Amino acid sequence: MTDVNAVEVRDVEEPKPDPAGAVLKVEACGICGTDARTFFNGDPRAPVPWQLGHEPVGVLEEVGPDADLPPDVRRGDRVFLGSILTCGECRWCVDGFQNLCERHLLYGYEPFPGAYAEWALVPPIATKNLIPLPDELPSDLATVADPFACALNGVEMLDVRLGDVVVILGTGPIGCWQAVMCRDRGASTIYMTDVNKDRLDVALGVVGRFVDDAWVTGEDDDGVEQVMSRTDGRGADRVSVAAPSKQAQQAALEMAAKRARVVYFAGLPKHDPVSPLDMNQLHYKELAILGAYGATHRQYRITMDYLNRRKDDLAPVVTHRFPLERIGEAFATIRDGTGLKMVIVP
Ligand SMILES: [Zn+2]
Ligand SMILES: [Zn+2]
Repeated sequence: MTDVNAVEVRDVEEPKPDPAGAVLKVEACGICGTDARTFFNGDPRAPVPWQLGHEPVGVLEEVGPDADLPPDVRRGDRVFLGSILTCGECRWCVDGFQNLCERHLLYGYEPFPGAYAEWALVPPIATKNLIPLPDELPSDLATVADPFACALNGVEMLDVRLGDVVVILGTGPIGCWQAVMCRDRGASTIYMTDVNKDRLDVALGVVGRFVDDAWVTGEDDDGVEQVMSRTDGRGADRVSVAAPSKQAQQAALEMAAKRARVVYFAGLPKHDPVSPLDMNQLHYKELAILGAYGATHRQYRITMDYLNRRKDDLAPVVTHRFPLERIGEAFATIRDGTGLKMVIVP
């Protein structure tokens, strides 16, 4: 990225690892909504020219003499690098909530250049985030471990029970994976909505058999009536808001059944985070409203195994693969909402 909305592929010198770090030969690196937002809007943590890319899978080519690798990781292994870099020492890290680390940083943002490259540095703080891949798991699918683990965190917060009616607002990759996981957890009925018809159609092409019904919402149609009419006026037991939309946040409370759980998975833009919500929905229906952010090391570990076991159902979510030279096209495809998950394959 050489400027906002400008990208260039350059030859650079092979990176030299820190004595306590390592070097990855990148096999694949995902692009997510965060990368696209950074690319199209800029981000102070990515001062141009900047190398993005925080969902890398690669082979550990070089390991510094002082590097502290996880016990099951060795030089030459194919690994995934979890992007939430944590201190390992604060009370949240010690309690196993690495996603809430008081001093966490993000790989691919200052001061750690990312992995849209042939080679990527693993800084010392990131060696504990290396996760070995099962042999049969393809590298391009493994790059989704990062957003997938976050989707899993959302589903755990949602606590889907046998027989629940679930609504997922937003049919990006997160919404799609949540649909598969909710089905695995025993949901009786899954509905999905999106404001973008193209994205909804792509999503249904990929996870349609896990979904009972889906429809497009719009400015004057928030989807509440459709949920109510399909549930005899009861509403949904579990609602996941997987779209950064105030309208979706508000609609979620209205379509929730009594005693339902609503999880706000997606954040709002940092400059506009305040959303007016009808708190009487919360009060009279005894709703539980929860947030979900990032993922813990435990969830990353579960993710790798789950991706491997369910790869036939989950792999189609990776709709596009681009070589490094065509990375600009990949960003444009995300913006247009005509694909789900994009992966760069150097
Ligand atoms: Zn990401
Ligand atoms: Zn910490």
